[in-house]
Amino acid sequence: MKFADNSHQATEYLRQVIPLMVKNVIPPTPLNYALWYAYVSQTLPKLNQQMDKVLEIYGTCPNRVSEQLFSEFLIKDETENAEVVQRALLSVMGDLESSASTTVQDTEAYNEVLQESLAALKKGNDDQSLESIIQNLASNTETISESTRQFQTKIDHAQAEISSLKQELDKSRRDATIDPLTGLFNRRVFDMEINQLAENPNPDVTLIMVDIDFFKKFNDTYGHQMGDKVLQYVAKLIKEECTEPLVPVRFGGEEFSMLLPGMSIEDACALAEKVRHRIAAIRIKQKKSGEVISSVTASFGVARLDREESPEDLIARADAALYKAKEAGRNNVQIAS
Ligand code: GH3
Ligand code: MG
Ligand code: MG
Repeated sequence: MKFADNSHQATEYLRQVIPLMVKNVIPPTPLNYALWYAYVSQTLPKLNQQMDKVLEIYGTCPNRVSEQLFSEFLIKDETENAEVVQRALLSVMGDLESSASTTVQDTEAYNEVLQESLAALKKGNDDQSLESIIQNLASNTETISESTRQFQTKIDHAQAEISSLKQELDKSRRDATIDPLTGLFNRRVFDMEINQLAENPNPDVTLIMVDIDFFKKFNDTYGHQMGDKVLQYVAKLIKEECTEPLVPVRFGGEEFSMLLPGMSIEDACALAEKVRHRIAAIRIKQKKSGEVISSVTASFGVARLDREESPEDLIARADAALYKAKEAGRNNVQIAS
């Protein structure tokens, strides 16, 4: 959920939230506050549509529905860490609860005072002089202003906390899917994607397995750090060649894979050849000696997912093709049989 970018905007939303909640008889809980905040900020049009529908049917938004909408629209992200972050998010909102209810009560009380004062004025009741009506109104206006100001401070604080929680959530989502060294998708994403693609009764996907040649020797010669640099460079090339919906993956160690939904075996072979050439063209300069390293190559195995073939069998066939490429002298592309 996107909260207001600045406190002026947040104040503006706040002005709308509380009367709306009072009008629709919504209990001032943190969950409801978040929901109605999202409603007035109109950042989630689908949420607004559903809430409008619910209000039309019930004349309010029952707790059960609010909880459902809250979890569907505001905390639907699924990551390992999500539960922890969600709990933290709820506790931040919990801090708002008492202030929110105080503000709502004050708003209601203020409305009553306004109504009473108006009635007294209309009646022209001498018992209550004009001065005392004004006095009463002024002191109540001060109370509501102070109450709103305090609530605003709490909201500013909650917004800051929520934004840092959001960053944490984004990070945990990244950690769960991205290989830290190369920035490519990790094996977990690969497994998920390939299983999903293999469920299609008419699958349309080709797999390329890539393995850097003689990489152990490279590490031994130039050092592990230099090896890491090569992995990052190769990953960058692979990423550049694999735009959506293609899936570039660090399969493990010095092995990569490209999962290619919607790509024919011919196009996949052409892609493998292109990446192979680009890897062979990598030139890395050693910082200390200034020596240019130009000996990085990789071998490729390409396989097309057959109907009713399991992901494991597809990977095994691509691996066998890769092995053939190694046997054939490395730095070449082989198609699986
Ligand atoms: P081949 O051509 O047959 O693939 O030979 P190879 O040396 O590349 O294969 P081998 O499986 O014997 O060695 C793989 C090497 O990759 C060994 C390991 O040190 C290196 N490696 C794996 N992960 C990393 C990494 O994250 N960083 C670095 N620098 N090296 C890694
Ligand atoms: Mg290997
Ligand atoms: Mg290797």
